[in-house]
Amino acid sequence: MLIWGLCVIYRTLGRGVFFCRRCGGDREYRHRAGRRFVTVFFVPLIPLMKTGEHVQCLSCKIRYVTEVLKLPTTVEMQLAHIAGMRALAAVILRAGDPANPVARRRALDAVTGAGDKGYDEDALRQDLAAPADAARRKVGALGAQLQTEAREWCLAEAIRIAMADGPLTGPERAAAEHLAGCLGMTQAQAVGVITLTEQNTVLTPGE
Ligand SMILES: [Zn+2]
Repeated sequence: MLIWGLCVIYRTLGRGVFFCRRCGGDREYRHRAGRRFVTVFFVPLIPLMKTGEHVQCLSCKIRYVTEVLKLPTTVEMQLAHIAGMRALAAVILRAGDPANPVARRRALDAVTGAGDKGYDEDALRQDLAAPADAARRKVGALGAQLQTEAREWCLAEAIRIAMADGPLTGPERAAAEHLAGCLGMTQAQAVGVITLTEQNTVLTPGE
């Protein structure tokens, strides 16, 4: 008597790290494809159709469609956040007096506060020399992953850098509005944040 059955055999196509929604963090995954087989005496003999690919979290074992790999990991988001804040600080500094030590200090604080603990004068100098296009892209990527309030907070940070050495100048105001656009904010939101931040920022006499 023959014993027939069915089974699925998986082949691993790749491994890596992704953001698992169920675990709520970055986890290792394996990307797998399966194929059904007819088994005879529990031995897979006759291949049938493929079962499709999936991504499985190695921690919680849940399976996702492969599109999940397109989502950024927490680490990638953190890197984009830092790159965006660096670009934003450089853009606003350039619009004012990039040599002013108080403004530079405020820019360094904004970036280290965003998580780049090693950010220093050398790195700032490099960012100030970076092309405007690259900066716009980085600020755009930052805005794309933030909710409205977080965007407003980032813009307020830029304005506080601009105001570290005195009231907002025309070019600084224009740069702030430009940054707001890159972050994905409307003109009205930009004006609102600029006005509010100007009112709430205590100007320190120039050093
Ligand atoms: Zn998981």
